[in-house]
Amino acid sequence: MFVPTSVTAQLAATGQHEPRVLIVGAGVAGLTLAQSLRARGMHPVLVERAEQRQDSGYMLGLMPFVDPVLDDLGLERHYLEQSVAVRQYRLCASTGAVLRSFSVDTALGEFGHYRGIERGRLLELLTTGGAPVAFRTAPNAVERTGGTVRVCLTENETEFRADFDAVIAADGVHSTTRGLVLGAERVETHDTGWGGWVTWGEPDEWLDTYQEIWGPGCFVGLYPVPGRTGVFTGGPRTDTTRGPAAFAQLVRDRLRTVEPRFSRALTALADTPESHYWSLSDVRCADWTVGRFALLGDAAAGFLPTAGVGAAMAVESAGALARRLASADRSTVPRALLDYERAQRPRVESAQRNSRQLAALMLWRGRLSSRVRDFATALAGVDTALGPIRKLLAQRDHDRAVPVS
Ligand SMILES: Cc1cc2nc3c(=O)[nH]c(=O)nc-3n(C[C@H](O)[C@H](O)[C@H](O)COP(=O)(O)OP(=O)(O)OC[C@H]3O[C@@H](n4cnc5c(N)ncnc54)[C@H](O)[C@@H]3O)c2cc1C
Repeated sequence: MFVPTSVTAQLAATGQHEPRVLIVGAGVAGLTLAQSLRARGMHPVLVERAEQRQDSGYMLGLMPFVDPVLDDLGLERHYLEQSVAVRQYRLCASTGAVLRSFSVDTALGEFGHYRGIERGRLLELLTTGGAPVAFRTAPNAVERTGGTVRVCLTENETEFRADFDAVIAADGVHSTTRGLVLGAERVETHDTGWGGWVTWGEPDEWLDTYQEIWGPGCFVGLYPVPGRTGVFTGGPRTDTTRGPAAFAQLVRDRLRTVEPRFSRALTALADTPESHYWSLSDVRCADWTVGRFALLGDAAAGFLPTAGVGAAMAVESAGALARRLASADRSTVPRALLDYERAQRPRVESAQRNSRQLAALMLWRGRLSSRVRDFATALAGVDTALGPIRKLLAQRDHDRAVPVS
């Protein structure tokens, strides 16, 4: 579990240990990095802007990129208990016709697990054994002095400064810490013009199957996790501005056939006006490191949820960064960060490209053009969607510079 711990108390635990690392953001990437460093005997300072209490968020399908990192943390058994296996993928057209169906086991099984889990459960899992974190804390200035980075932090509305050897911004796709160091011209945004809502439905008999409908001007995906099913319903923002209930009706009108499973999901959306809305846009940064400052996870390369791989890449990158920081001393931190960028950036950007390409295939408006797309999709093999991911998995970085003791 999270152990609320002030920055001062976390710094005191750091003592004479070096390097002194500040991690901003206790999401998937920041928390994985913090726990991976702690498992190696280090004492990073972890800060999080949010209040302690957070809801379970949304569903995540985690590709096998996470396996080695969770194994290193000794969490594999708990992970399997807290998640469900994803074994099948089924894609339908607006007519109800199955465009493509394949076995996930066959496509990805040789590389490890593909599992469905709630984001909140994943965070809980990562805090096994306790995870000190300062809630309601965020940096508001970063000053690069000669040998260290001086950070001005606001903790529970009180401002103070502290010096670190490395500062890692893991504060998500809308990172504000990134803007304290990188100019806006170094950050490129890719906006699909679409967005949608996550809602939850009852579990059904399709416990191990991801199922999606790519319709004209609409998208519905069903993703099981233990005990329930996560639903994403989206469309062009010009249509979703009507709100969940009106958009759910629009989706019914646009689909020729609405299977009971999808119909229940649309009813749940219509009945949940307070659902959180996600815009389908991402970011890519021209630099991941500047001296002793580095970006991690969505702050470095934010993902569209289309390929379902952002969290998995964030976990993989956190593992790669932890190994390098754990073998660095104060003077070699900048080199360790550069090495991390050289290893991870091409991999993450390749996965991000895959997500963008899938978005270009999935998110079509017109009925006629969608039919053409459906025809092409039905002919395409599994490799069109998963080829780039399989390649990344096959080339996984297995360096274990500093094993967990
Ligand atoms: C609807 C949806 C579905 C998705 N589905 C999948 C999927 O199936 N599979 C998959 O792999 N990925 C999926 N993703 C992508 C995945 O969620 C992200 O890529 C992943 O969460 C990135 O992790 P992160 O730690 O970088 O960012 P986040 O998990 O967003 O964490 C950032 C943290 O930083 C905190 N923070 C923000 N600003 C500050 C600040 N200034 N100071 C301190 N703390 C701050 C935030 O409160 C948050 O806790 C999905 C995303 C969405 C939105």
